[in-house]
Amino acid sequence: MDLSYQEIKYLPGVGPKKADLLSKELGIRNVEDLLKHYPYKYVDRSRFYYLHEISEDMPFIQVKGQIVRFEKVGEGHNQRLTAIFTDGHGTLELVWFKGLKYVLDKYTTKIEYVIFGKPTAFNGRFNIVHPEIEIASKLPPPEQMGLQPFYNTSEKMKNSFLNSKAIQKIIFPLIQSIKTGIPETLPAYLLKKFALLNLTESLVNIHFPKNADLLNKARQRLKFEELFYIQLNLLQQTRWRDQHYKGFVFSKIGYYFNTFFNEHLPFELTNAQKRVLREIRIDVASGKQMNRLLQGDVGSGKTLVALMAMLMAVDNGFQACIMAPTEILATQHYVSLQEFLGDLGVQVALLTGSTRSKDRVVLHEKLRSGELNILIGTHAVIEDTVQFANLGLVVIDEQHRFGVEQRSRLWKKNTLLPHILVMTATPIPRTLAMTVYGDLSISVIDELPPGRKPIQTYHYYESKRQALNGFIVKQVEAGRQIYIVYPLIQESEKVDLQNLESGYEYIRETFPHYNVSMVHGKLKPKEKEFQMQKFVRGETQIMVATTVIEVGVNVPNASVMVIESAQRFGLSQLHQLRGRVGRGAEQSFCILLTGFKLASETRKRMEIMVRTNDGFEISEADLRLRGPGDLEGTQQSGLPFDLKIANLAQDGKMLEIARKVAMEILESDPQLEEKENRVMGNQLKKMKTNTLNWGSIS
Ligand code: ADP
Ligand code: MG
Repeated sequence: MDLSYQEIKYLPGVGPKKADLLSKELGIRNVEDLLKHYPYKYVDRSRFYYLHEISEDMPFIQVKGQIVRFEKVGEGHNQRLTAIFTDGHGTLELVWFKGLKYVLDKYTTKIEYVIFGKPTAFNGRFNIVHPEIEIASKLPPPEQMGLQPFYNTSEKMKNSFLNSKAIQKIIFPLIQSIKTGIPETLPAYLLKKFALLNLTESLVNIHFPKNADLLNKARQRLKFEELFYIQLNLLQQTRWRDQHYKGFVFSKIGYYFNTFFNEHLPFELTNAQKRVLREIRIDVASGKQMNRLLQGDVGSGKTLVALMAMLMAVDNGFQACIMAPTEILATQHYVSLQEFLGDLGVQVALLTGSTRSKDRVVLHEKLRSGELNILIGTHAVIEDTVQFANLGLVVIDEQHRFGVEQRSRLWKKNTLLPHILVMTATPIPRTLAMTVYGDLSISVIDELPPGRKPIQTYHYYESKRQALNGFIVKQVEAGRQIYIVYPLIQESEKVDLQNLESGYEYIRETFPHYNVSMVHGKLKPKEKEFQMQKFVRGETQIMVATTVIEVGVNVPNASVMVIESAQRFGLSQLHQLRGRVGRGAEQSFCILLTGFKLASETRKRMEIMVRTNDGFEISEADLRLRGPGDLEGTQQSGLPFDLKIANLAQDGKMLEIARKVAMEILESDPQLEEKENRVMGNQLKKMKTNTLNWGSIS
């Protein structure tokens, strides 16, 4: 009996129309999907309240009694119907704004009803608007009612009478019918080992819990299963990849790396940088293809690690390339890598959208001949015409700006896949990394270069703008530079651009003696570059910009980051922006400007920013506030799977256990061929295989 083959339109109470809605609105296509549409909350209907007990802060109440009388109030559109209800201990007003005739036909006095709904106080009396009403004698006794499920629906569904209650009515008989048992999807020994409820019991109790304890057990089981199969799937793919793709072997550390390390390195590497380099070194020498994600907070020195990894490639006769998401960043990498390398003799070139075609021809030739060692660029690097002699390592900086498709084109440039190092400054919580990037190895730089002063962050309301202006003057007079960032978000790009431009005018009027640069995405690359360089060289003191400066830009003398309309940015983005300052020896500041009226979630975001500079803490908070689907860094790709019940922010422990177990099982039975493991093999086959595999997307 495979429930994923059973269509829902044949279920009682569904039919083609509702089936269509369920599919369009919630992606529920078959009986299995429906069973996995778990309630998002439960309401305790195991007892009746007395009317003198109720208070307004109760989310729901259930009372038993009779309607004393009905009353129509108002005229025409404003008409409503009320009913006075009593249970002998107090009275309650029931109110309807719609379906008055239906209500009057259906309900009457002198019958015992059970009323269910959210109480509100009005004019010194409690009322329930559009209550749920059932004839008391037709309901099971309250102790059997237990916890009632509530299901997510959409506005469209509600309009078509598919509210939570309706879904409950569809699922209820289904649950009755599966009570006889459906095939288990976890092997018996795992159920036993972790004392998990079987699948049938779990489904019964997740929808209609007999009690809180069973609900909890059902949850545990279903969460475990969900996390376990994601991990099993990822790990199996990784094993497969490791067996099928050989990697280039960088067997030695040679002249370039050593000379650079001994003679060019202007400072001591941090311990974290050293550790990550060792991890990379082991990978590239192993004969397997490296797929490594390097996480490191802004300013933690990832570029240098990338450079040294590329030198490993060059030492072994390979070429390397580094891709950055914007032209500004690529150019900056080019400048700083050249500075680092000095006269080492490594051939480096820059390729971006604005490289002239004459230069391009020369560059292409040098790449093909192998004369060029390191190519730095934007996505221009992956154009079809670009061919390498022997590309051994690809570094992708700020990976979330690159689409999967763009990455995949790079893989096609070689017969053997190059080693891949993906770098991100958007710290991804460990649990998320283990799921989204579960098939990548992960390195973390969890230490900043010494001597950095933590950035001081303040949240100012608009009303403090004068004070802020005074502060800006002080900083510029002390020789510092200032960023002022405006939101530019696609939906309202025009308005945003106007804001940016009037902001620019305001700054020029307010600070007539200072030079001001302006950069935004609509500028031609040449102009952007020109404005940027003026700021980098210190010719302009203030940079008014959109988030184009978000990633990577490095101007150590800039010490103040002002973020206008900070409420419009997500936590990770705010943190990224803040990371543009605090790169030099001076004390740096970040000012978050907002209006006074803020949603409570926004206020929390500001508080977190003010409280901490720790990117990992911020990403954890982001995960809690917004949920994984919205997290930056995963936004573009989306989560490669849908979590129905597990919660990455809360179930980290369970995730680690599930991953460990999955690893052990694959270790002893890689193909899942043993009799007791077959159930898992079948389950994996069934799973949608849309899990992203960063290493071999081609
Ligand atoms: P990110 O990780 O954000 O890309 P960068 O690689 O741009 O950071 O490094 C930020 C700054 O720190 C650069 O100016 C870089 O030269 C410097 N830096 C990197 N490593 C060290 C180190 N070990 N000690 C001191 N400064 C370092
Ligand atoms: Mg960087």
